[in-house]
Amino acid sequence: MDYSFTPEEDAFRKEISDFLDKELPSEWFEKFRYTYWEEDDESWEITKSWNKKLGEKGYLGVGLPKEYGGLGGSHFHHVVFEEELYSRGRTPTWIEKNITVDWISPTLLEVGTEEQKEKFVKPAAKGDLVFCLGYSEPDSGSDLASMTTSAVEDGDEFIINGQKTWTTMAHRADYIWLAARTDPDAPPHKGITIFLIDMKTPGITVRPIINMLHSHSYNEVFFDNCRVPKSAIINQKNMGWYVMMVALNHERGGVNFPSHMKQLLGELVQYCKTIKRDGKYLSEDSVIRKKLAKLAVEIEVTTLLNYRTTCLQHKGKKITHEGSLAKILCNDMWTKLAQISTEILGPFVLLDRFSRRAPIHGDMARYFLNAASMGVGGGATEIQRNVVAQMGLGFKLK
Ligand SMILES: Cc1cc2nc3c(=O)[nH]c(=O)nc-3n(C[C@H](O)[C@H](O)[C@H](O)COP(=O)(O)OP(=O)(O)OC[C@H]3O[C@@H](n4cnc5c(N)ncnc54)[C@H](O)[C@@H]3O)c2cc1C
Repeated sequence: MDYSFTPEEDAFRKEISDFLDKELPSEWFEKFRYTYWEEDDESWEITKSWNKKLGEKGYLGVGLPKEYGGLGGSHFHHVVFEEELYSRGRTPTWIEKNITVDWISPTLLEVGTEEQKEKFVKPAAKGDLVFCLGYSEPDSGSDLASMTTSAVEDGDEFIINGQKTWTTMAHRADYIWLAARTDPDAPPHKGITIFLIDMKTPGITVRPIINMLHSHSYNEVFFDNCRVPKSAIINQKNMGWYVMMVALNHERGGVNFPSHMKQLLGELVQYCKTIKRDGKYLSEDSVIRKKLAKLAVEIEVTTLLNYRTTCLQHKGKKITHEGSLAKILCNDMWTKLAQISTEILGPFVLLDRFSRRAPIHGDMARYFLNAASMGVGGGATEIQRNVVAQMGLGFKLK
């Protein structure tokens, strides 16, 4: 067992670290660094141009082949890049990168046509295209196979009707990766097709969903007699469930959250070392010390679980429940970190970043509010536990 990175991967880490230190836009750090899960027109412009800068270097798609605009790196290069990026907290690159380049692009490379790879993967890796995921519906989330959005064949086209919800970044995306029912008579898993559809297509309406942080990341997306060409189909008609499983496999192997948690823990530790309560530094309080030390151990375990997933991917092995294991623990850690930080900061946690007395830049309350969504997005924790029970422990579900 060897947990160390190779000298070449270490050199790549240094290259990325130097690049980020030099190139991360200063205006971002001044205005937007402490705006967790917030996004507006101004920050989006910075995100777009920053992603293009990453794209020029091939860093946006570290793991994508060079001929498709990536860097042709291994899974470990991808880990190194994500660790460096997220160790800086919230950077302009955000969920749009994960959806577009980390989840959909590799799926297209596995199951798409040559034309689709050229049309979508290359520009995505250059930061010129953004995708959103159109899976969930008002009455269909965990039980995704019950979706009702329909796509009916009509000559050379399909006519789409229905509604998607919680669609992250639909208001910014160029294309939607849409799951729709193409055969209502087939068993639920067998009658679904994935389409990649231009968001400017007539018949698509996007409406914002404002979250607890008063920010706009999610949307409802309505399809009203929306006509799309057959060329929008990914893989084959009625093969959508298979395509979604390929995409989900990419989605559940993330390493960015442990890195982000380490960075937050570092901020909290620093705070405890510099702030006194009742004449003593917070870091001298045994309860606080114990809680933070326990958290540090658990974040490390989460990192190692993610490394294990990366190792399996690197060896070309199929991931079944390993990504779910890491995701369950990650979500749990995120919630704990948010809770412990609110306990330590006390009532001061309620001060936002516009107050000069706000501790840790007034950001921790945002993490606390956001934590509730962590165990739901990308598949609820209970569903991940079902995956572990079935695939990991071999329990049969009735
Ligand atoms: C931050 C965030 C971002 C998201 N982004 C997107 C996106 O971009 N695109 C998209 O399509 N969707 C997105 N979603 C939606 C997300 O995928 C769904 O919310 C999720 O799959 C759960 O579905 P649901 O909301 O319908 O809840 P439900 O499926 O109704 O579940 C409600 C509760 O019941 C539990 N439950 C349900 N079935 C079972 C079962 N079989 N066993 C045990 N417990 C069960 C669930 O765990 C949950 O606690 C996002 C959600 C969040 C929070």
